[in-house]
Amino acid sequence: MSACSTTRPEFACRTALAHVPGAPEDGYASVCRVRGLTWSPPRLGPVHYERRISLHAVVTRWGGLPWQEPWVILMDDQGRFLEWAAELDVPRVRARDGLYQIPEAADAAQRAQWMERAREHLGRLLDERTAEWGATVASQREDELARLGAFFSTRIEEEEERLRRRTGHEDTELEQGDAVSLKLEWERRAAEVGQRWALRTEIRVWGVVEWSWPVATLEQELRTGAVHVRLAGAVDVARGEPAPPHCPSCGRVAELLVRARGSIGCEHCA
Ligand SMILES: [Zn+2]
Repeated sequence: MSACSTTRPEFACRTALAHVPGAPEDGYASVCRVRGLTWSPPRLGPVHYERRISLHAVVTRWGGLPWQEPWVILMDDQGRFLEWAAELDVPRVRARDGLYQIPEAADAAQRAQWMERAREHLGRLLDERTAEWGATVASQREDELARLGAFFSTRIEEEEERLRRRTGHEDTELEQGDAVSLKLEWERRAAEVGQRWALRTEIRVWGVVEWSWPVATLEQELRTGAVHVRLAGAVDVARGEPAPPHCPSCGRVAELLVRARGSIGCEHCA
């Protein structure tokens, strides 16, 4: 079970400062390995600023020991998910107040739309984490139930043993009643343990930041003999990090590029 509360989060406008250099000197070589190919020097295009949105939340998990984690998610201005971290702020970015090169801040309707998309992303992330937490909590709950079981079964055995030694006693029914009430007590305590470890999480969004984020295009050629292939993609200039390039043959994100049938391909299609 999860609840998402978004009562009056703080809104702010910030600009992510451009990292210098805007891209690594070796360009895509920093994020994509090659075999039998040579990179030419990279060319970084002019920096422009895109709107991005970050949501800052606290996730509280109830179940056993209460526990809290800060979460931040980053989206583009269409509400598409970019990244998340278990941190208070977007990691590895220097910022200053205000929106640079973006004329005005979004209106209330636009913000409400972002909130809705962000809630979907948070819900999905939370479901993934809840599955992990569920497994941890289940083993702790089973341990406690096992200790409880060992305690009560010993007590019940002792009671039954006492009863056998007193055969012929008038109050047998009453004595059996003690074992029955022990069993009932055991059930009651086990139900309590189950409740105490029941997993319940809650998300509270406390901040929303509208960002002006520097990005640029990075172009770089790959060569092998007479084959020249030009790769182009986006660079996160705030971190000076290019996204891994797309494979020129199949279009998938590539971490390794090799020669493939007179052209260039990735580990999936070569
Ligand atoms: Zn490929």
